[in-house]
Amino acid sequence: MPSTVYYASPRQTRLEANETLPIKLDLIVDKLGIRDRVKGENVAIKMHLGGNVGYSTLHPVFVRRVVQAVKEGGGRPFIVDLNWSAGDAAGRGYTPETLGCSIFPIGGMDEHYYYRHTHPFKNLSEWMLGGGIQDATFLIDLSHLKGHPSCGFGGAFKNLALGCMMQPTRGAMHDACHFDPYWFPERCPDPQVRAAIIAACPHGAVVQDKENADSLHLHFENCNQCGRCLQVAPAGSLKIDPVNFHAFQQACAISASLTLSTFAPGKTTFINIGTHMTPVCDCFGFTGLPILPDVGIFGSDDIVAIDQASLDMIARSRLIEENVPLSMEPWYTEGHPFQHLHGPLKDPYKVVEYGEKLGLGSRSYELIDVMPVEQIARAPLGYINLHAD
Ligand code: SF4
Repeated sequence: MPSTVYYASPRQTRLEANETLPIKLDLIVDKLGIRDRVKGENVAIKMHLGGNVGYSTLHPVFVRRVVQAVKEGGGRPFIVDLNWSAGDAAGRGYTPETLGCSIFPIGGMDEHYYYRHTHPFKNLSEWMLGGGIQDATFLIDLSHLKGHPSCGFGGAFKNLALGCMMQPTRGAMHDACHFDPYWFPERCPDPQVRAAIIAACPHGAVVQDKENADSLHLHFENCNQCGRCLQVAPAGSLKIDPVNFHAFQQACAISASLTLSTFAPGKTTFINIGTHMTPVCDCFGFTGLPILPDVGIFGSDDIVAIDQASLDMIARSRLIEENVPLSMEPWYTEGHPFQHLHGPLKDPYKVVEYGEKLGLGSRSYELIDVMPVEQIARAPLGYINLHAD
């Protein structure tokens, strides 16, 4: 049976506030029944508060409305994010006064407040989950949609997967890409050929390994799978392989599943907001031009369905190539716009595929528009240009 995803379009028919996204967010909060579900609960609102001078993370006007609904329902809301992001959030307009509730670092200021979970996956066995999320009794995963250099896309999964774990786990999740071998030094013994492979990459993605002089190291987040290095590398010495690229998304699905496993059934809900979508995640600490049109707001109790629906809606748009930073190279033209930006092997749908396999939800969904845009009937006569010479 398909899951329900509520949707609010950023388009409006009339120049009226009640047709704009903050008001439509209220309708989604109503549809999700948040007020009726949070009485007496300690409600963690997990969001990414960004860093440095980034201003494209979720505007406080959205966050405050969610906080207010929780309070009206008799819940005790608090915002959580990683220590470095929560620590300087006031500089980006996030304060208890603007949001309406406290802001806490998810694992404490020094990330000493966490719980250990065991789930073997490639280089990972122990996962350190922030106490600020595990000790909550209700979760609102409030996410900003955007691109991501490691996996193409950040949404509901990504907000939990990286944003609830402590640094050793976050680092190991990124390192999962390196677990399966991709460099075979015996096939490339000549240092000059190795130097040529490095020189062939225009994105600094392939470098000399710091520990092994005869090895190369791939920075997967920089690689857009253009294949230039493979034209120089001896056959079989270097692999640009899906297994390495997909490992990060698999780790994200597992991480999110561990976080969600700490909540009782019915005690989690998800809101995605697709405004000012940038090429990379909000951790980068700056904001450039939006690379896709705004897609609006999504709400669901199903983490798989909400990211699937968000990706499908984004897929209806075209990458705004003139807004893409010049150092990036959207050479790939098939598939999803985030693949155009980050390369074919950073398939943004992988995380929902893995999430569905873990039993976290369904990729099949019914989209319910909470305020469909009305079509305006124009007068039957055509225009004349009164100002023509
Ligand atoms: S595939 Fe392209 S971007 Fe990736 S390492 Fe090779 S040359 Fe660099």
